[in-house]
Amino acid sequence: MSTEALRTDVRDVVIVGSGPAGYTAAIYAARANLKPLVIAGAVTAGGELMNTTDVENFPGFPQGILGPDLMDNLQQQAERFGAEVAFEDVTALSLAGPIKFLTLADGSVVQSRAVVISTGSAYRELGLPDEKRLSGHGVSWCATCDGFFFKGREIAVVGGGDSALEEAMFLTRFASSVTLIHRRDALRASRIMQERAFANPKISFLWNTEVVGIEGETKVTGLRLNNLVTGIKSELPIGGLFIAIGNDPRIELVRNQLDLTAEGTIAVDGRSSRTSLPGVFAAGDVLDPTYRQAITAAGSGCVAALDVEHFLADNVPAS
Ligand code: NAP
Repeated sequence: MSTEALRTDVRDVVIVGSGPAGYTAAIYAARANLKPLVIAGAVTAGGELMNTTDVENFPGFPQGILGPDLMDNLQQQAERFGAEVAFEDVTALSLAGPIKFLTLADGSVVQSRAVVISTGSAYRELGLPDEKRLSGHGVSWCATCDGFFFKGREIAVVGGGDSALEEAMFLTRFASSVTLIHRRDALRASRIMQERAFANPKISFLWNTEVVGIEGETKVTGLRLNNLVTGIKSELPIGGLFIAIGNDPRIELVRNQLDLTAEGTIAVDGRSSRTSLPGVFAAGDVLDPTYRQAITAAGSGCVAALDVEHFLADNVPAS
């Protein structure tokens, strides 16, 4: 799409983000003839499912589907009904007036009467001094992206949720062993994932343990650990560290414009997608501190598109 085209008319609705929430909003908005523009992101297009392997719990796929294939299907489905998809980043939003202004990375500005914020969430960091320095040198947040580089190595995964177990199980394809380090003595992950992980002979568990340091000059060589019950400090030599301790909503673009909840997600009115500003709607992980599933995000995208439709019908611009 040319930036000239983006600059001209005022659109009915622009959707920021292209995970299951954004594309589902686009499918519904396109079928309502609102000609939505999805600003999909330059490198993050498709959202978190692009970093996932098998998605086994998205209804309608009894044999499961690969995350990237699911996102490709959703994009095609939205485009089939007339949604436009721009693989660009939004750098600034101005949401207060009746016309919303979205500035893109190339400096062009898109105008729209309604905006859906479906920017998802970002990987949480441990906050250790060497985490960033060794990122890409043995520290990773994405097993499906980086697992291949850890062939035959001993690696560790931090976290006790579904993501940590999924990462750990995926990594056993490459690693000689995987140590799962969790800060409590019970996992948060779903029962089926726990059973699979416990049954995997390559995975061992370090309970009640926090990572307090990452060792390595140019690449990760080990971890410094602290047992939270006994206070005993130890070291674990490893060749890689995968961090899977949850996500935080991506609210940087709207932080000072929209009301947020105590959990840091975008606040919405009841079960709707209506934010604190008229014409601005939210969908997916960015408003959901609890469920955060692909299917709940998709449902939330549907809600947002229906709310946009009603909003536009009730706010027809004077000609
Ligand atoms: P999550 O469920 O929030 O789990 C995060 C884990 O990291 C928890 O075990 C937590 O410990 C731990 N943690 C958080 N902050 C930490 C810190 N600073 N240091 C050490 N540990 C820390 O996040 P998630 O695993 O990413 O899952 C998010 C959602 O996606 C969930 O609803 C999950 O069910 C879903 N999901 C589903 C699948 C699937 O169905 N296949 C796959 C991936 C994700 P505590 O337990 O002590 O709080």
